[in-house]
Amino acid sequence: MDDLQPVEIEKEPIGRSRAGDFVFGAFVGIIAIISAIMLGELGAGPAITIISFFLLALCLRYFTLRHAPVVAIGVDVTEEELAILKRMRTLVGALPQPVMILDGESIVEMVNPACIKMFGEDLIDKHISSFIRSPKALDVLRNARRQNAFTEAEFTSTGATERTHLFYAAPLDQDRLHGDGRMIVMIRDRTKQKKLEQMRTDFVANASHELRTPLTSMGGFIETLQGHAKDDPIAQEKFLNIMARQTNRMLRLVEDLIGLSAIELNEAKPLTDMVDLDEVAGAVAETLTPMALKQNIDFELIRSQTPLWMDGDRLEIFRVVQNLCDNAMKYGAAEGGQQTKVILRVGQGVPPEIDALDHTGESPQQTAVRAGADISELVWLQVQDNGGGIDRNDLPRLTERFYRVNPQLSRSMGGTGLGLAIVKHILQRHQGGLQIASTPNEGATFTCVFPLARSKATPPRLEKEAS
Ligand code: ADP
Repeated sequence: MDDLQPVEIEKEPIGRSRAGDFVFGAFVGIIAIISAIMLGELGAGPAITIISFFLLALCLRYFTLRHAPVVAIGVDVTEEELAILKRMRTLVGALPQPVMILDGESIVEMVNPACIKMFGEDLIDKHISSFIRSPKALDVLRNARRQNAFTEAEFTSTGATERTHLFYAAPLDQDRLHGDGRMIVMIRDRTKQKKLEQMRTDFVANASHELRTPLTSMGGFIETLQGHAKDDPIAQEKFLNIMARQTNRMLRLVEDLIGLSAIELNEAKPLTDMVDLDEVAGAVAETLTPMALKQNIDFELIRSQTPLWMDGDRLEIFRVVQNLCDNAMKYGAAEGGQQTKVILRVGQGVPPEIDALDHTGESPQQTAVRAGADISELVWLQVQDNGGGIDRNDLPRLTERFYRVNPQLSRSMGGTGLGLAIVKHILQRHQGGLQIASTPNEGATFTCVFPLARSKATPPRLEKEAS
């Protein structure tokens, strides 16, 4: 139990105050002047001795206290306290969140670099309300002071973009009687989490809605089949066909949902296999050609002359190529009696540039920089159609879950609204990039680029040595 006894810290002042320096200097100076007057008649020798004594006293004070930190008037700081203060300052400075210390009147005493980054320079000696104007945040501060306890609340700052923050305030010294009212304030940006929470809620709402619609209609048909269509074989045939279609739609949706969650779960898993993108493109084309023929679509595959090795999961890459080609065939129908044409190209290096009116996503150059690869060390696939294209307002939202330009058309085509979201997640796992180019009434082109397999790429070190 002895260990728990409070340790007495010897309160030996080692801090140096500017006032102390001034008083000491003035004191020595006055003594020197009085001595000089009194010993005026003694001649040059004693005068030089007195001046030397004066200079020596100043030097002594300077050299003994030159490393002592400057403290405010009347503040005694022990060595231990100084060390703690220094450590606290380093710790607060290293925190990624904005942190500030306020005095009893909510005037800023100390801020860390993250705080300066958020609110700008020159915060010291300012009242907190001069740069945080949210009444909610200021209420938190007041409550923390009143209750003498840690308090937090969320507030939204409006500016160029709306951001959500969590504002924490706590008294530094919780001794209500003797505390000096100083507070520590910490701010955490929750915009990203808030967005994720919103996405999760929207996702559940959308998924339930997508399942509820066919289920409701199936319920209706079952009732009809049990009721007045009981003895009507023609109606029965018709309704059963519709029910089969609805069941397929729900199955596709459930499969896509399971696929999406599996891909999300796998996202952090390292890629251990290699895939030949050229071979995958060939396999996808083989499965889609019969459908293209049936729908009178001119489907062309332009293969690479060599294998296109990338680090990846073959099933996932197959899914990317299949989803993009599938979409081109579903939504890329040419207008004005023209022949619908879908081209699937694969290759290495820089993909062919598409001369289109609108673009969204990452350029191959940007993907190369992000993946730390040379532009020549990319493999790519491109799916081009000559359909109606995509409106520029819809382009940036296409990879959102359940986002469809025309929900009715997508449903009638058997779409779930999850295809491009799945593509996006697979690309993320494979360090790939997606760019979508479109010209209204001329068609859309989806380009995916991936870094070449590590074992096939020039290691950056060797490349540097070679150059
Ligand atoms: P869906 O299951 O509806 O096909 P996707 O996520 O695959 O879902 O695609 C989202 C939406 O993007 C589609 O509903 C469609 O409106 C649009 N889209 C995708 N590919 C094309 C394309 N090649 N041309 C025009 N619109 C497209």
